[in-house]
Amino acid sequence: MAKIGINIATGSLQQAEMIVGIDLGTTNSLVAIIHPDTKQPTALKEFDGSSIVPSVVHFDEYGNVEVGERAKPYLESDPKNTIFSAKRLMGKSYKDIQTHQDFFAYKIIDDNTESLVKVQVGNKFYSPIELSSFILEELKKRAEHILKTPVTKAVITVPAYFNDAQRQATRDAGKLAGLDVLRIINEPTAASLAYGLGLNPTEEKTIAVYDLGGGTFDISILRIANGIFEVLSTNGDTYLGGDDLDRAIIEYWMKQWSIDNLDQHTALKQQLRLAAEKAKIHLSNNAIFETEFAGEKISITKEVFESLVQPIVDRTMDCCRNAMKDAGLQVSNINTVLMVGGSTRVPLVKKTVGAFFNQEVNDSVNPDEVVALGAAVQADILAGNNQSMLLLDITPLSLGIETMGGLMDVLLPRNAKIPTKAGRQYTTQKDGQSGIQIAVYQGERDLVKDNRKLGEFTLTGIPAMPAGLPKVDVSFLINADGILQVSAKELRSGVSQSIDIKPQYGLTDEEVEQRLMDSITHAKEDIATRALVEARTEAEQMLAVTEKFLTKNASILTKEELTTSANAMQALQLAITMEDKNLIQAKTEELNDITRPFAERAMDQAISGALRGKDIQDKNF
Ligand code: ADP
Ligand code: MG
Repeated sequence: MAKIGINIATGSLQQAEMIVGIDLGTTNSLVAIIHPDTKQPTALKEFDGSSIVPSVVHFDEYGNVEVGERAKPYLESDPKNTIFSAKRLMGKSYKDIQTHQDFFAYKIIDDNTESLVKVQVGNKFYSPIELSSFILEELKKRAEHILKTPVTKAVITVPAYFNDAQRQATRDAGKLAGLDVLRIINEPTAASLAYGLGLNPTEEKTIAVYDLGGGTFDISILRIANGIFEVLSTNGDTYLGGDDLDRAIIEYWMKQWSIDNLDQHTALKQQLRLAAEKAKIHLSNNAIFETEFAGEKISITKEVFESLVQPIVDRTMDCCRNAMKDAGLQVSNINTVLMVGGSTRVPLVKKTVGAFFNQEVNDSVNPDEVVALGAAVQADILAGNNQSMLLLDITPLSLGIETMGGLMDVLLPRNAKIPTKAGRQYTTQKDGQSGIQIAVYQGERDLVKDNRKLGEFTLTGIPAMPAGLPKVDVSFLINADGILQVSAKELRSGVSQSIDIKPQYGLTDEEVEQRLMDSITHAKEDIATRALVEARTEAEQMLAVTEKFLTKNASILTKEELTTSANAMQALQLAITMEDKNLIQAKTEELNDITRPFAERAMDQAISGALRGKDIQDKNF
């Protein structure tokens, strides 16, 4: 039986199945819902009126975890064990963030440059997914505390430029926190929804969303038509935001009052930083800010502040210019400009953006909350509560096909509107492979063995080609009657094959529910298994490629090199049989390091061969 909660503040009954909207921000995060009484998007607030949870996680030496406001003071007093900006690390390898290492005050592991980053705290290692899940867990707890009802379903927002891996990582973080993530939506799309844009299917508009947060700046140009949001372009700077405005004030004060040598005084440094942020916020509505610092009166006027930060604001305008260029639009094409992120409260920012787009900007919705509010609007649409919105049939569970190692590759995520279609390109694993098996599954688990098989077929007659060369388009099409047609076509040869899967294969609501719950209960092991299978698949591909290369190019290698390679291959073979993802990745990397110079040598030889007038054709093909 489902439980029904009562809101003790209002006395109203609440649905047990409340879907919340979550803005998982780099600096701040928060939860919003559609208020059951007012039907308005509303940020959930604690008794002290705060809706915002700083995206900061602190670990103490006993392994206790604190999140949010309580973790924030440790940024200065215990930086090694205090994680901020975990969102920047989502789906990233060490190589991706190498140039920004100094930015992070905590330890980022670089044992294997290709694999995903981990953060070391004491003798423990955390993935960005786990770190984000701590924040989501805190948000979930807060929401349950305020709503007095279990919260298990959520819509989470991500930047428009997030790639598949980063979106998947965000989903996984939700799963780990015990949340069923119904949908991941773009932050600018959420902001538009919060302003009520896109809710009317006949509306057509081009929107600029200017989002200046704590440490990041994003500009997105969106096109809304027929209730569908299309991202025309994005631009921005992932290391530019409100923190830079604070820093400009700190530098000014340090020069003005010859404050220096703060490095030794952690407490003073923290105090100055807080004072700077306070000054910035104060100056959004006042002409001057004055305070005392270390026994001295310090101050800053709005005029000085604006002259200090103008260059920073100008940098964001360069990004806007580029975004417009990429979208192929003129300023006059933009119908609406939305202000998002706490830092857009600075009047100079509003003024500069308004001048650039040659129109009044929209800032009527609280810029700290607007993204979460929009996520709540989306959640409400998914819950079917928004009666004015046309509710289309949706797929109750994700649909996908089996890929290497028995992994589920989702083509249509659950809750996709029907009719719909999706496609992805695959290729062969072996040389001369003439057939590809397409097995269709339904479910949320990462391994197909835990999902439901809906059907399968084999695409045959692929002409002999080296592995990786054929291009096989697999497409899913669900028509208005709910019939799923899966087809596969090899593009080079044109061979194709398809099957229809009828909706009588459907599951009862209870079965769907059970499958969703399972995916959450097994989140941790599923995520780990997928990582292991992916590492194994990559290792196996590496072995196959190396083997092929060595057979073909044995003549240009010394005996010693051959032995070294063979040993590394053997070590990798052995690693594959073990359950240790990191070991497999390390051994793959080792083999790669050994053979990379050989490949270069083979290339040089082929080229010099060609220069001598020999035909390199049959050597390489
Ligand atoms: P993110 O989306 O990156 O998590 P937010 O949108 O929450 O970040 O923005 C946080 C930033 O907004 C901080 O740098 C904070 O100092 C700044 N901020 C909040 N309120 C104001 C204000 N009234 N004036 C200027 N800056 C503000
Ligand atoms: Mg934000």
